[in-house]
Amino acid sequence: MEITRGIEEYKLIVNQLIKESFPELRSFKFLFLEVPRFFPFWSFVQKGYRRFFFILNKVYQKLDDEAVKGNLAHELCHLVLDHQYRGGINDIFHNFVKFLSFAFNTKMSREIENKVDREVIRRGYARDLLSSHLSWEKFFSEKALRKLHSRGYLTSEQIKTYAKKIGKWQQF
Ligand SMILES: [Zn+2]
Repeated sequence: MEITRGIEEYKLIVNQLIKESFPELRSFKFLFLEVPRFFPFWSFVQKGYRRFFFILNKVYQKLDDEAVKGNLAHELCHLVLDHQYRGGINDIFHNFVKFLSFAFNTKMSREIENKVDREVIRRGYARDLLSSHLSWEKFFSEKALRKLHSRGYLTSEQIKTYAKKIGKWQQF
């Protein structure tokens, strides 16, 4: 069966995540935009004009709920760790340039993505993160996956190992 999912569902998932685990983001507004499959990224969040913009690839329509939740939790962890929500520059153009400079800087990406994935696990979403990772394994070649891991994203094994180590891998 084809999954039909859109902006309304993403909004619900993000609201739920914030309510459960991201109290510091409660007072912010989020806007959601979808971009076509051929865009070379899955998702990112930008701050601008007093709100956050979630830019999501339509590939999300093909993922299961857990995987979507894992990805969205990852994006929220970017916001929390970068402290973007604390104000500062509120200019989407500036932030987009910053996003690009970071997207092309492997060393910086490695540190940031690694930190972000660990934060996702600390906040209790190890299984969702794993599910999002398994969906990558479906969509990407082995070579592309290796490239992603070299950019700091945790492997399936690392997700499980870290989650167990910090006591976030309980059975439900
Ligand atoms: Zn990321």
